[in-house]
Amino acid sequence: MADRNAPGAIEVIKVPDYEAMVIGAHPDDADFAAAGTSALWARQGKKIVWVIMTDGTEGTEVPSMVDRELMMVREQEQRLACEVLGVQAVEFLRFQDGHLVNNDETRKAVVRLIRKYRPRIVITHDPTQHIFAPDPDEEPDETAYLNHPDHRATGNIVLDAIFPAAVNPHAYRELLVEGFLPYQVHELYLFNSEHDNTYIDISETIELKARGLQCHVSQFGPQANLLEGVKRWAAETAREAQQKKGLQMQYAEGFRRIKLYIPGKEKGNQEQPSETQQEQAAH
Ligand SMILES: [Zn+2]
Repeated sequence: MADRNAPGAIEVIKVPDYEAMVIGAHPDDADFAAAGTSALWARQGKKIVWVIMTDGTEGTEVPSMVDRELMMVREQEQRLACEVLGVQAVEFLRFQDGHLVNNDETRKAVVRLIRKYRPRIVITHDPTQHIFAPDPDEEPDETAYLNHPDHRATGNIVLDAIFPAAVNPHAYRELLVEGFLPYQVHELYLFNSEHDNTYIDISETIELKARGLQCHVSQFGPQANLLEGVKRWAAETAREAQQKKGLQMQYAEGFRRIKLYIPGKEKGNQEQPSETQQEQAAH
């Protein structure tokens, strides 16, 4: 337990170590949503870490499958996928699949990892996205998708971990003795959102994305060829990028990007205009 008498940390770290931490509820979630971006950034020499919140033990239709065996299989599949993508680290928090809740235990686990890796960007599920449903009159052959509760819980846990817990010198003081100082995340990218405002061109990593997904044999079978499907979805996102932002891409991943901290723009620090301000002034 936390020692409530311990003093808070003196320092809040704002200089990142890793470029991005990608946090998914289940093995394979981030593979669909952010694998192309992860592989692209890894190729550019940036450090990427993936985090899987649950043990994935509800992800089978085989009733005889033992939970522990499935967990180990899915973790191994996720490790292989991360290797294909060039992701440097992967962490498994092993909370029970299907039962993830936003509580002190889950938030603290994420705070520990944020303070450990110090990612500039955190990428995760959009917790505000509950229902994906087309208008039945406009698209009578389409059914709705009710976003998985673990996905929404993950989004909420991660957002609450980023602010205020990870950055607050008084929060989770017991982590200080483990060497995990408060840290300020710079940006948040939310996936599976209906409010995408940022598109990453993944044309050069689209094949890696498909190969990564194919590592999840327990989910898609040993013979799965997912390249065509992956290309179709990413081309749809690229069309959206064209319509919304006028961007020309063959294949894209879309995110709702949220800026949380701009270096040099601390409260009370008015001397230096930020890059954005300088850019705007130049136009
Ligand atoms: Zn999932």
